[in-house]
Amino acid sequence: MIANKTILMLPGDGIGPEVMAQAKRVLGWLQDTKRASFTITEDLVGGAAVDVHGVPITEATMEKALSVDAVLFGAVGGPQYDKLSFDIRPEAALLRLRKDLGVFANLRPAKVFDALVDSSSLKPELVRGLDIMIVRECIGGVYFGEPRGIETLPDGTKRGVNTEVYTTMEIERVGRVAFELARKRNNIVCSVEKANVMESGLLWRQTMQALRDAEYPDVTLSHMYADNCAMQLAKNPKQFDVIVTGNLFGDILSDLAAMLTGSLGMLPSATLGAVDASGRRHAFYEPIHGSAPDIAGKGLANPLAQILSLALLLRYSFDMEEDAAAIEAAVERVLATGGRTADIPAEGRERLSTAQMGDALLAELAKSA
Ligand code: NAD
Repeated sequence: MIANKTILMLPGDGIGPEVMAQAKRVLGWLQDTKRASFTITEDLVGGAAVDVHGVPITEATMEKALSVDAVLFGAVGGPQYDKLSFDIRPEAALLRLRKDLGVFANLRPAKVFDALVDSSSLKPELVRGLDIMIVRECIGGVYFGEPRGIETLPDGTKRGVNTEVYTTMEIERVGRVAFELARKRNNIVCSVEKANVMESGLLWRQTMQALRDAEYPDVTLSHMYADNCAMQLAKNPKQFDVIVTGNLFGDILSDLAAMLTGSLGMLPSATLGAVDASGRRHAFYEPIHGSAPDIAGKGLANPLAQILSLALLLRYSFDMEEDAAAIEAAVERVLATGGRTADIPAEGRERLSTAQMGDALLAELAKSA
């Protein structure tokens, strides 16, 4: 049994607390069946924190996030906060958490569940069995590079500048995450950049190749230009196992890959930091969807992305592979037996509420106990 692991839960706004409530039930099941014992704390974040504290995340919450083994996050934001300045918008909490935790590798699995093969925008034969992992560097590159800004030119017109910049260290650390992941999957990594037109892309390609040759000779590495990768994802996505790329290309390609799988309500993510000398790493887990204000409070949200994010937490932060796989298998069975929330095409089937989806999942988990 795994003991004494600490988790900070930050449900956030909109459907965040609704889907987190179902993830809590799964954590309860893990504890009740003596698979693990966790110390769980919960705090406000996003608009919920703005309402109470006037800021999207307090210093006390940040301290907790830095001290726990893993953070499980829901979603933040809502139209009532859209007029606030950027520094106190709910989304500022997310940026602060990522930055201060130093989590640089965003893992976005794109997996097609058999029962949902018809929900994809691609033909079923192209996506049946699809299981790819996109590793995106998420605290560097053009979103953070300097110089940046908008300046006024002498003739009164303007010039907008952003800078794509990557160092050897930044490329190697995200590369290691991708190669390590590949070793636990099919041992294939595709590194994506624009080495044909960007020096930072050329350095990315050379560094990935050198890293593979020096430390991961058992892993097959290929290189692909980002535009070609977008085409290949739409044409033959099953050719990929792990894709590793920078911030901008990863942002776009991971959304493209997500849509191959059907609903937003099914997609988890993990964001990992570096492993320190004691073997610990900061890690942050969240569904890729937002706070869905259009359905918040109605009991319609699909909790599976949040629950699958918890499965990633168990796998990557606590090494609880068996339990992570049990949760994923239970999700597969719930879908196979017709469990559908409102976001998943249902062909005349009854729609489950958020809590009913939680019930169905726990019933499947109980069978695997
Ligand atoms: P969204 O992901 O919240 O919703 C997009 C659409 O998908 C909506 O129709 C919504 O009802 C549906 N949807 C999303 N998750 C669902 C689920 N679990 N079950 C069923 N349906 C689901 O994106 P949006 O509408 O662009 O943004 C709404 C708010 O969320 C904004 O304030 C935005 O800034 C914020 N946001 C936050 C995050 C985050 O916290 N990481 C991410 C994206 C958007």
